[in-house]
Amino acid sequence: MAASAFPLFPAGAIPAHLWLDGAFVPWHDATVHVTAMGAGAGVAVFEGIRAYGSGDGEALNVFRLHEHLERLLDSMTMMRMPLHHSADDLAAATIELLRRNEARGDTYIRPVAYYSGLEHNSFGDTLGAPPSLLIWNRPTGTQLLTERGKHVSISSWTRIADNQMPPRIKAMSNYQNNRLAQLDARVSGYDDTIMLTATGKVAEAPGACVFLVRRGEVITPSVTSGILESITRDAIIRLCRERLGLTVIEREVDRTELYVADEIFCCGTAAEVTPVLSVDRIAARAGGMGPVTRQLDRLYHDVVRRIDEGYAEWRTEVERA
Ligand code: PMP
Repeated sequence: MAASAFPLFPAGAIPAHLWLDGAFVPWHDATVHVTAMGAGAGVAVFEGIRAYGSGDGEALNVFRLHEHLERLLDSMTMMRMPLHHSADDLAAATIELLRRNEARGDTYIRPVAYYSGLEHNSFGDTLGAPPSLLIWNRPTGTQLLTERGKHVSISSWTRIADNQMPPRIKAMSNYQNNRLAQLDARVSGYDDTIMLTATGKVAEAPGACVFLVRRGEVITPSVTSGILESITRDAIIRLCRERLGLTVIEREVDRTELYVADEIFCCGTAAEVTPVLSVDRIAARAGGMGPVTRQLDRLYHDVVRRIDEGYAEWRTEVERA
């Protein structure tokens, strides 16, 4: 297949391999039949992970690899997918994949557990069946230190709930809720959106968690507010408390608290630290990127790139092949 069939990859940058069910497989050989449950019916759970180049450009560090793989196994457990690899096995496979693919700069890593077999005719057939496990990587960009912010709406689409489509599970199918909300916001002229729970409390953005700063306190919806248990959210909470000496409160958040916040930002593996400039066209009071957001943007950048040597347990270094 021609390189142009993969527009996310710079010319010639398609990785040589991906990891599939315990083996390193040539990229172009990894195919799934369209009628398989994992492809045709969205029976899949996944992770999104980043690796960052170090400050000196010499090393690549995967950010919180173990936590992401543990969350993948949690998603599998909640979806009744039998586990046949440990987080340690998958971490070793990820590192070896990045080495083999000679990943150098900032890299996105995508583990997926899905049903690829054609023997599953109905959802019930998958009970007790081991899913396929896939890990692939590609180059990615970063928005850290760019100060690029977003104007967001409050979505009229309600966030899914734990007793319907649990947001704690990183299931592919959940993301149709996020997609409806995001596309609706774009059509209405916003960059992105924030979804509310069925009881009208702030949940999260389609691919990121939400924080606000008000009267010197940092506030974020709790993990029972219709959110994914975000690994970046956890890192940001720790950086706020341990490095900035700020009070962080995890609780239910009202929509109108966003209207009177000094600062609002989103965070996530892909979103990193993204300033939110306005909500429903009401500008955050700091005007532009606020001081707490700016400090977190810098801190997060320095930690993920190991410019700041702290939090070593968050980084897994990929040694060159
Ligand atoms: N919420 C949703 C819905 C997401 O898809 C993501 C991205 N995985 C996040 C929050 C942020 O989670 P994390 O920090 O673990 O990437």
